[in-house]
Amino acid sequence: MMNRRRLTQTLFALPFGAALPGLGRAQGMPDFGVLKAGYAQRLKKILAAGELPYVDMESSCNPTRVDIDFVAKNLDRLNIGLMALSADIGEGQFKRGVRYDGLSEKLVAAYPDRFIPIGNGGQPPALTEAPAEFMDAQEAAAVKRQIMCLGEFEFHHYPSGRQVKRGEGDERHVNVPIDGPTGHRVFSLSEKTGMAFQIHYEIEDALLAPLEQMLAQYPKAKVVWCHLAQVRYSERATRYNAAYVDGLIRRFHNLHFDTAFGDSASVYRPSNQRHARIWGSDGGLAGEWRDLLAAHPKRFLSALDLGGDRMDRIGEYDQRHRYFLKLLPAEIQHQVAYRNAWSLLFGEEFA
Ligand SMILES: [Zn+2]
Repeated sequence: MMNRRRLTQTLFALPFGAALPGLGRAQGMPDFGVLKAGYAQRLKKILAAGELPYVDMESSCNPTRVDIDFVAKNLDRLNIGLMALSADIGEGQFKRGVRYDGLSEKLVAAYPDRFIPIGNGGQPPALTEAPAEFMDAQEAAAVKRQIMCLGEFEFHHYPSGRQVKRGEGDERHVNVPIDGPTGHRVFSLSEKTGMAFQIHYEIEDALLAPLEQMLAQYPKAKVVWCHLAQVRYSERATRYNAAYVDGLIRRFHNLHFDTAFGDSASVYRPSNQRHARIWGSDGGLAGEWRDLLAAHPKRFLSALDLGGDRMDRIGEYDQRHRYFLKLLPAEIQHQVAYRNAWSLLFGEEFA
């Protein structure tokens, strides 16, 4: 009998789509090879029509409320190639004992060429109140191949401007040590499975060293640090700039960043600062960030960061993201929009 670590290693040594001896795939989830073929076909169809498809690697929703047909219709309308739409386990579900929500199976069953099966959002209450059970459930989904990548883990998350407005500020300040037990489990699960995961990690000087230490300890972990250049309090993040990110990219070969950030006018209310630091004063990209993207075009990913309370704003988010993409040189647009996500998911170039 293989122990769990051995079993996981064996499973993920197999290419996507390979037969799994003695182990049935999760019911209802198509073979990943079949999904991959459908994704490629869809991306190529949009490209052939002269449009730029992109892969939204980071959006989430309330799985008990999401209108799947509405989202799918909008993906078509907006020429969005694929979406990794993760389920956030809410308070009600959590109290009913849910530690893994199978939204991905429903999405893929309904629209197999539009959605990437992804693990659940690592956030309160599941991540903070039952971290071991939550991680057990995500790992089980990974082993059963119900998902291709893990969701966004909120290790350090200030309340969003919208949450502050709704009076949810204090309870939404999440601080889970990235080098604590949960951090080690996520990083090591990614190494074992080859699956990428995302982190939400607000930038503070003192928090950079523990993250760097984890990246160094798990060099094969595929980490997507969400929200490039989003700094909510500049006085707490004196070391973070494009040169710092450049240094990380050179040291850590499996580190990526997603490009879900606000527009140049977006202000983070609690600090009153324009938190999307990527913008220059003229509405274009600031020079240091533009140069960084040009120097490392394979490390940045498209993302919308839609959430349960803003799914109906998909058109506006799409427009904003496409405005950013258009500021990049043409070749890099294709890298960031879908090629890098493809490499991250499948370990090969999109062809
Ligand atoms: Zn986030």
